Amino acid sequence: MSEPAVTAFIGLGSNLENPREQVTRALEELAAIPQSRLDAVSSLYRSAAIGPEGQPDYINAVARLNTGLSPLQLLDALQTIEDAHGRLREERWGARTLDLDLLLYGGQQIESERLIVPHPEMHRRAFVLTPMAEIAPELAIPGQGEVMALLERCGDLPLARL
Ligand code: AMP
Repeated sequence: MSEPAVTAFIGLGSNLENPREQVTRALEELAAIPQSRLDAVSSLYRSAAIGPEGQPDYINAVARLNTGLSPLQLLDALQTIEDAHGRLREERWGARTLDLDLLLYGGQQIESERLIVPHPEMHRRAFVLTPMAEIAPELAIPGQGEVMALLERCGDLPLARL
């Protein structure tokens, strides 16, 4: 096994099929990703869904992973976990059993067909910034600024910490 080298942040969200359990199970699965170590996990938060009306609330969390995987290997691992949760990829912004986003991969900025890092919406979303501020308050998002400052500017409703 190569030496784990990069700190990555993963955003977790679920609003279907017992979301709390989906997120809790996904955290265990993140801990089992090869060549990686789960370093920190935020509290779970409840947030109102964005997108089509009438959706159930989301449960969100952010995890910090020290990983020796490449960005695309890590994305593959995240998508394997999503698929195992029976995620339906039908409706954009629609309800989902599990959504895993690769938020940050070290300080890298990546733009490829499959992967954009930092995740393009993360700096605007309280459901990402709030859990991230809990485990990495000093962090800056490349190209966007410090997490705490972004959170103060964010217009989303505050989240309920569970
Ligand atoms: P979504 O339905 O919003 O989870 O989007 C999934 C798609 O976004 C997949 O096809 C990914 O290849 C792509 N994608 C681009 N950047 C990222 C990222 N940073 N994290 C997760 N998926 C990404």
